[in-house]
Amino acid sequence: MMPMAGTVYLVGAGPGDPGLLTRRGARLLRTADVILYDRLVSRALLALARPEADRIPVGKRPGGMGITQADIHERLISAARRGQVVVRLKGGDPFVFGRGSEEREACLRAGVPCVVVPGVTSAIAGPGAMGIPVTARGVARSFVVLTGHNADDGGGRADGEEECDGDWGRPDTVVVLMGRQSLPAVTARLKKLGYGPDTGAALVDRATMRSQRGVRASLGTIAAAADRAGIETPAVLVVGDVVEQSVTGPLLPLAGARVMVTRPHHASTVLAEHLRARGAEVIVGPAIGITYMEPDVGALPPVSWDWVVFTSRHAVRGWWRWLARHNLDARVVAGSRVAAVGPSTAGELRRIGLRADLIPTEFRAAALVKTLAPHLDRGSQVLHPCGTRARAEVREGLQHAAEVHDLVVYATCDRAPGPSLRRRVAQGVDYLLLHSPSAAQVMVTHRLVPPEAVIACIGPTTAAAAQSLGLSPLIVAEEHTDRGLVAALERHAGGDRS
Ligand code: SAH
Repeated sequence: MMPMAGTVYLVGAGPGDPGLLTRRGARLLRTADVILYDRLVSRALLALARPEADRIPVGKRPGGMGITQADIHERLISAARRGQVVVRLKGGDPFVFGRGSEEREACLRAGVPCVVVPGVTSAIAGPGAMGIPVTARGVARSFVVLTGHNADDGGGRADGEEECDGDWGRPDTVVVLMGRQSLPAVTARLKKLGYGPDTGAALVDRATMRSQRGVRASLGTIAAAADRAGIETPAVLVVGDVVEQSVTGPLLPLAGARVMVTRPHHASTVLAEHLRARGAEVIVGPAIGITYMEPDVGALPPVSWDWVVFTSRHAVRGWWRWLARHNLDARVVAGSRVAAVGPSTAGELRRIGLRADLIPTEFRAAALVKTLAPHLDRGSQVLHPCGTRARAEVREGLQHAAEVHDLVVYATCDRAPGPSLRRRVAQGVDYLLLHSPSAAQVMVTHRLVPPEAVIACIGPTTAAAAQSLGLSPLIVAEEHTDRGLVAALERHAGGDRS
């Protein structure tokens, strides 16, 4: 279904994780001429838009200046009248505290068609991301969503908010949005409404994003606990028996462990999610960043490749972009066979339509070289798309058997830690996860290795690099994948120190 020109689409962007946008929302973003977006909306969603689409930030800072609601209406209406497909991208669901209804009304009054595309609201997804349901059989049959904005006004508000108090009633579960700044006032009001100070309470910030943080306490203690844990905005508060009833503590193998992940940002989302699902508190501090850049090597030698060898997901992505920039496509390797270092690299290959012919049983470059060597002879041509810091392992390991060409398709750069990351590290880290020698290097250079942390490496290469930098890795994953690393952490936390 093609979107209609001259229409405003009010699209819910979901709570943060770009994966939580609806498919309909994604289709609209891909076709939009103009996108007016909120402050909290993920950049990854804007990246879906056509390069020539206008992307206009219309976020209002809390209590801040800048664009007014009337300006937003004006822009929506005038763009639609120019015959454009207009997407108004709003955090969460457009009709939960987002002034979406006002925008719809303004459009309709101006004779501009306006279509609402719902989104996943943080009011439900926020608690959900901490494993807390808003209803649960035998525990909570009802929930209410409130705004904490102006909760500390005292009363006498002209818009009649006080009168709403009666309507709050006593639903089993209370969810409060926009309540971080006035948390003490919010909790005081809830107590007045009859929720006891011992009622379970949890606060989660940046829910569903990799930097999500959560804290559980009671209604009486949550404000202080949130300050101690450094919970920021945007945050959702949930109060009710559902907090205590949701599974935590000893049932979860990594309960209470503070785990620091140093992978590049985009590679840490799933890992962080899995660690949290096992009860860990995750500190995301990417030590390195990846950029896919125009490499300064010349064009590809005009040979037909017998093998193309990928030793990371970044190499697959970088190579794919490299091809596109050189006006080439996968037919370059139509007659070639393809080797991948492990399942995640093979998965990335599948996304671009290539099936890996060879994956070693142990997911490391050395094993790949060993498995591949018997398939080569002296005349074999091997292409190795790699990063700026590629170690010579593949080239050196194979060059006696074949002609190997490294093609640099991405760059690795250090990321200096900011003050907020330093603060969180200073609060204590139980496990520091290292996924590459460069991550180890950056952590040491920036003096960010917490002395008390158990160091856990994805494989022996990283462990050896860490050791040569003076660290003592205690854990090396047996299977060199995130899954293997999480399993190793669980074993260690469970008391198996072998
Ligand atoms: N329409 C949005 C809510 C807008 S009000 C929705 O349906 O989610 C903005 C408030 O939403 C924030 O102050 C915060 O309380 C909450 N919020 C939005 N995204 C959030 C997130 N990722 N994590 C925690 N809270 C979030």
